[in-house]
Amino acid sequence: MIKRIDHIAVVVEDIEQALSLFRDTLGLELSHTETIPEQGVKIAFLPVGESEIELLEPLSADTSIAKFLAKRGEGMHHICLEVEDIDAALADLKEKGVRLINKTAVAGAHGRVAFIHPKSTHGVLIELLERSK
Ligand code: ZN
Repeated sequence: MIKRIDHIAVVVEDIEQALSLFRDTLGLELSHTETIPEQGVKIAFLPVGESEIELLEPLSADTSIAKFLAKRGEGMHHICLEVEDIDAALADLKEKGVRLINKTAVAGAHGRVAFIHPKSTHGVLIELLERSK
């Protein structure tokens, strides 16, 4: 049911500063940045092969990304796996007793998404994504 790693998301204090490593030192290309006010986050997209690294910078202190940053510091936030059919994937996981943060898919930047609880995934927050066609 899983097609590929869509992206790996890294929380940073400041995207501009983080780009000095990811773009300037590692040589990755910055495709674009996007500000999503509803989620209180700014995102930089850096394609790597068939996947992307996404840098997440919180826009305000009351967002979940800001809380993550305050509690754990900068670092990896989640892995996103692309699935063909997110409703089928969620139904399958529910049946297998996996703990879900989103019991049904919600709208994300690139399609419909749902998060699996890290308690069920050995501590790794996993996002499932069905890309909009
Ligand atoms: Zn993501």
